Amino acid sequence: MTKTVLVYGTGISGCGAADALAKQGCRVLLYSDKETKIDNALLELLKKQGGGLYCGNGETLLQEVEQIVLSPGIPLANPLTDMAVQMGIEVISEVEAAYRSYHGHIIGITGTNGKTTTTTLVGEMLKTLPVPTAVGGNIGQALSKEVENLGADAWLAAELSSFQLEGVREFRPDVAVILNLTPDHLDRHHTMEAYGAAKCNIFKKQRENDIVILNYDDPIIRSWGELAPSRVCWFSRREQLNRGVYLNGGNFTIAWDRQLYTVCHKKDLRVFGGHNEENVLAAIAACFFAGVTIENMRRVLLDFTGVEHRLEYVMTVNGVPYYNDSKATNPDSTIKALEAFDGHIILLAGGHDKMTSLEPMMKLVQAKADVLILLGEAKERFYEAAAAAGVGDIRKVETMDEAVELAYKLAAAPQVVLLSPACSSYDMFENFPARGRYFKNLVAALPK
Ligand code: ADP
Repeated sequence: MTKTVLVYGTGISGCGAADALAKQGCRVLLYSDKETKIDNALLELLKKQGGGLYCGNGETLLQEVEQIVLSPGIPLANPLTDMAVQMGIEVISEVEAAYRSYHGHIIGITGTNGKTTTTTLVGEMLKTLPVPTAVGGNIGQALSKEVENLGADAWLAAELSSFQLEGVREFRPDVAVILNLTPDHLDRHHTMEAYGAAKCNIFKKQRENDIVILNYDDPIIRSWGELAPSRVCWFSRREQLNRGVYLNGGNFTIAWDRQLYTVCHKKDLRVFGGHNEENVLAAIAACFFAGVTIENMRRVLLDFTGVEHRLEYVMTVNGVPYYNDSKATNPDSTIKALEAFDGHIILLAGGHDKMTSLEPMMKLVQAKADVLILLGEAKERFYEAAAAAGVGDIRKVETMDEAVELAYKLAAAPQVVLLSPACSSYDMFENFPARGRYFKNLVAALPK
């Protein structure tokens, strides 16, 4: 009998999952609580199998449904899924649905920060294997679409947010990576414990021969080594390890099964900052277990220039380099950006305020930034926190145009201008890429 699935959410993940499930022969009810439209070809496909698009009240649909597939944007606990659970309907995330349709190998990557950079790098390294490979999850199209045509010999690099990991059941990556854990998304997960528990779902179903790669330098993540059912491979920027990947006099070094392998020196990298060294350590560890050769890892690392909007070098104007770090949507990632420079920073920050603690970040701003230019909804709270931390020169502006103009007027070598907002962008822009592109266009238009 045809299986009827309700896919909740009509964004990239929801539509991708609906399309993939329909192609697998399911009858798909694609559902959104708000009025919405979807691509015509997808609608036709769903209708052909007795399904379609449904908006508004979803309760009446539940009678017909065997399973609910949730988009990452929809919280696991919500009135519709609560009712479904009571009715005995299985509720899973889009990642879980993709997992069940795929029989190849997986490197799953999670953490508060660094997921996209690490997943992209892992994806590049995997490409050197003589088998089909793919990158998906929180990046690009839905994971369900990404795995559609892959066989059992394939390797997939999957970027997994805590939202995506909330609703996994059987999901079992061959290699799981947890980069770091700092307060973020507490608006949805409420406590750090719940946020951490969602991240731990990445290794919960692993078996003893699988691998989990954990950050030795992060005390919470280090403590998870004991919880993992799989083999632990640590990575560390600070310590020499017997079983793991670390920096040995600046050389990225793998220590495993009493063997030592040297990949390259940190000076050979084209990305910079300590946080990127962590991402590289994790990527090396993951790809080592996927069978990527040391030489191929080295080749990829020497070429890798990072991902757009992540500490991205834009251009140098009048001897002052400009950097776009629009993806820094929480204070912790802005801290990483500040740490990547020696000082002399003109920092542009602010945006939609996620109400996270600002103290550690402002301490660093005080030490490293010559000027702090604030914009967006968060600017008053940021101003108070910066003033309390003793930041000397704080300016408030209304628009990104004004911010860039002011930075340009003030800046002189050896200063750098850095957009690293520590906030999401929704108050002024559609999303962080739109904010980053807008900034880059302004910089490109500055008088030279
Ligand atoms: P994510 O996909 O987890 O949001 P990204 O790779 O897109 O992570 O990087 C987002 C921002 O987070 C970067 O601009 C950088 O400032 C910061 N960042 C990147 N890697 C790390 C890391 N390993 N630890 C802490 N911060 C990081």
